[in-house]
Amino acid sequence: MNNTDQDRKKAWKLQQKQLARDAFPIADALLESLFDAVDACVEEAGCDHTLRFTTVWLSDQQQPEDKVIAWLREHGGFCDCEVLANAADHWERNR
Ligand SMILES: [Zn+2]
Repeated sequence: MNNTDQDRKKAWKLQQKQLARDAFPIADALLESLFDAVDACVEEAGCDHTLRFTTVWLSDQQQPEDKVIAWLREHGGFCDCEVLANAADHWERNR
């Protein structure tokens, strides 16, 4: 692989990251609190295969539920534990 290819690959990766970041539904710091809160609840009470802790946090914090949940689902977060396993992982990699 020559330098140009590497540069192009690097640029492409950065662009993908930027696109992923642009699609974050709420501020980075808020996503961090969301994942922290859901993590604490799942650890304490387990996942009941719904988004109950996610939904409670979103309504407590008055965040746009539909928008955030659509984004979580898009990244494999169909219940609280999947939010942590999949959506939080996607966020970690691109934030
Ligand atoms: Zn689950």
